[in-house]
Amino acid sequence: MLFSELLLEWFSVHGRQLPWRNCGNPYHIWVSEVILQQTRVSQGMDYFLRFVEQFPTVEALAAAPLDAVMKSWQGLGYYTRARNLHKAAQLIVNDYGGELPNSYKELLKLPGLGPYAAGAVASFAFHEPVPAIDGNVYRVLARVFGVFDSPGTGAGKKAFYTLCSEVMDHENPHLFNQAIIDFGALQCTPGRPDCAPCPMRGLCYAEANGLQTSLPTKERELKVRPRYFHFIMARWRGDTFIELRQGKDIWHSLYQFPLIETKERVEPEDFTQSEEFQELVGIDCTVTHISEEKRQLLSHQELFIRFYIVELHTLPYALLQDYQRVPIDGVDGYQVPITIANYLAAEEAGEYFRCSSGKMED
Ligand code: SF4
Repeated sequence: MLFSELLLEWFSVHGRQLPWRNCGNPYHIWVSEVILQQTRVSQGMDYFLRFVEQFPTVEALAAAPLDAVMKSWQGLGYYTRARNLHKAAQLIVNDYGGELPNSYKELLKLPGLGPYAAGAVASFAFHEPVPAIDGNVYRVLARVFGVFDSPGTGAGKKAFYTLCSEVMDHENPHLFNQAIIDFGALQCTPGRPDCAPCPMRGLCYAEANGLQTSLPTKERELKVRPRYFHFIMARWRGDTFIELRQGKDIWHSLYQFPLIETKERVEPEDFTQSEEFQELVGIDCTVTHISEEKRQLLSHQELFIRFYIVELHTLPYALLQDYQRVPIDGVDGYQVPITIANYLAAEEAGEYFRCSSGKMED
């Protein structure tokens, strides 16, 4: 049997039933693919269902304020996806009469749709025979066909694309693409491929040569940059201060407390004596709480985050001039990074802080 035949047979028994699959709604397929770009199916499912309930059509999404879209995305991370989705919806309404473009080539022109997502939407929604190659597909193809090119290089990507185009079922590209993704996610998994009962055993290069853990060839490790964030929750007569993040950096267009970033880890006791800290909040204040350091790993950055609560006795000019003054209990009405949202929730539950002296609070 051919690779694609074995794959489709496996898929008919083991394929995942997902609400956006074979639903015949290109808009739902598109939204699901954007959500799943950096999110697991189990985590993305609820977000998908809520998102299409809140924005049931491309028109509804295009007409919604960006704030509402960002709010519904809160917790999913990688907020550029939400901004691009909104921008693309407006483009579809204005330039395509509200219908999603029905070809891979046109889909690639939409903001936020790369080759994988464009291939997925084109094949799932419009049955165009184009590959949709994600990490699962690279793994399956590399192992079954013994491809040693690294998917992390341009030449490698090209080789995998060509191979996938050749071996795919051109009559059922939507089923083939879904099947190979599921096969990689469920059977030919990264750490422990389930080779014993695998229908590909007879053709699989990696299985025959004991190379399951060596394929696909690893790309060079990306360097992860550590960053040290100190958020200051300065309190003044029931209010605090926030700002909108600008510029090309993480959390663009989200709100945050005044942030001081240091080049290296600075102990809280030294940080609160630093020039930068005192320039921001002045010296007429009391640091009442300092959080434990929280670690958050992003794709190329490792964040180390602390929160400081500072009771102000006079109002410093730096805060007044550069930040927005809002009631403390009104902060949760603003779109903030998930780290800050978690902090606000935990603080409310009394779970987050230890005393600035280092003694644990009751
Ligand atoms: S035999 Fe093992 S390595 Fe080969 S495709 Fe099946 S699960 Fe993957």
